Amino acid sequence: MRNIYEKLKSGDLEFRCLHCGDCCRVSGYVFINRKEGIRLAKFLKIEVKDFFNKYVQSYGARMRIRGAADKACIFLKGRSCTVYAARPSQCRKFPFWLESMSDAESFIETAGFCSGVKKLLENE
Ligand code: SF4
Ligand code: SF4
Repeated sequence: MRNIYEKLKSGDLEFRCLHCGDCCRVSGYVFINRKEGIRLAKFLKIEVKDFFNKYVQSYGARMRIRGAADKACIFLKGRSCTVYAARPSQCRKFPFWLESMSDAESFIETAGFCSGVKKLLENE
């Protein structure tokens, strides 16, 4: 397993997303910044202020997509992201978040909520 992590880090192994949508269903929030909100508003063809009013909530000094932490993202339909082309960077970077890639153990933990990582580890 540690070997897989090293190979991924060095680029010798490519991660394949299975498009299961599981990472959009796990408990947690999707954080965005203003630029990402503007991009999402454009994608949805709505006014920027309407986007922020309807879909965004403050979270301390940060902004996040509205929705309960233990529910699927409001932009998920079935297994697909309805705003995929304009999705926030948090979503684009998964499962390679800095904290996930800080060490092999942390990366292995992502197998608990990412079928693609789980499959990689199973095929080792
Ligand atoms: S914005 Fe799209 S990719 Fe990001 S969590 Fe929501 S459904 Fe998933
Ligand atoms: S959980 Fe993993 S495999 Fe499934 S859609 Fe998310 S990144 Fe892709």
